[in-house]
Amino acid sequence: MSPNDLSPSKGTHQDAPYDPVAAAEAAKKQRTRLEKRLMREVAKCSVEFGLIEPHDKIMVCLSGGKDSWVMLHLLRRIQEKALMNFELIAVNLDQVQPGFEQHRISDYLEEHGYAYKMLRKDTYSIVLEKVAKGKTYCSLCSRLRRGNLYTAAQELGCNKIALGHHRDDLIETAMLNLLYSGQLKSMPPKLHADDGRNIVIRPLAFCAEEVIAEFSQLMDFPILPCNLCGSQENMQRQNVKAMIGKLHAENGHVKGNMMTALGNVRVSHLLDKDLLELKGKAVVSREEDPLKRM
Ligand code: SF4
Repeated sequence: MSPNDLSPSKGTHQDAPYDPVAAAEAAKKQRTRLEKRLMREVAKCSVEFGLIEPHDKIMVCLSGGKDSWVMLHLLRRIQEKALMNFELIAVNLDQVQPGFEQHRISDYLEEHGYAYKMLRKDTYSIVLEKVAKGKTYCSLCSRLRRGNLYTAAQELGCNKIALGHHRDDLIETAMLNLLYSGQLKSMPPKLHADDGRNIVIRPLAFCAEEVIAEFSQLMDFPILPCNLCGSQENMQRQNVKAMIGKLHAENGHVKGNMMTALGNVRVSHLLDKDLLELKGKAVVSREEDPLKRM
């Protein structure tokens, strides 16, 4: 075909004309399908780890990113269907990063009838002041955010705090800890926080990021990016994400296998002496072991 020939190719398949009604119908079907799948995964995780229990008052941390929007939506859908009573309250913290439009979040929540609380704490100035030039802000920023949210949970009388970490966050964190901090650990679906006051739950722990992303797009949530502050995501995390993504592209079981591995620990085949002892396989180091002198 000459570069000037813009006519459709002849004698081959031609695209059907765009039908907006059919496209909207297909999008609706896909949205319902993904919602069902995600709800099933949240419910499964909840049953296995005791995430949602009768009379819970759950503070849903809503950053404005896709994951937290999807989490809030799914928890409410489950609340509508579940044969038990529990409360939800969405909480967003404006950390005063330039350009953070908190009103877009509250507008949506208001319009859709969610219980919510908007907070504002200038942690951005603290981060700018404390973090050395050229370093990423995220670690201190998240710590400050967490502290403020934990305090808010107490003030709101919530017994649980829901965070939007998903399957990909869990496996990436496990790999990061393995490679860069010499620990075998990830982020559990349910955790009694270090301050002893709060229980953190991660309802999306079984949900794949790509499914969450597609569903979020179909739902058209008002997404607020988390990089308005100008900080870049930690390089190590980016590398690990890319590495897992590449392996998964070659073998579509990789992410699932990594997730299964997190719940399938063979203590006897690792080197943690405390855990071996708990399993009744104590490692006895002898006081008088002659090899100590070597
Ligand atoms: S990208 Fe910015 S706002 Fe988001 S966690 Fe990092 S420092 Fe905080």
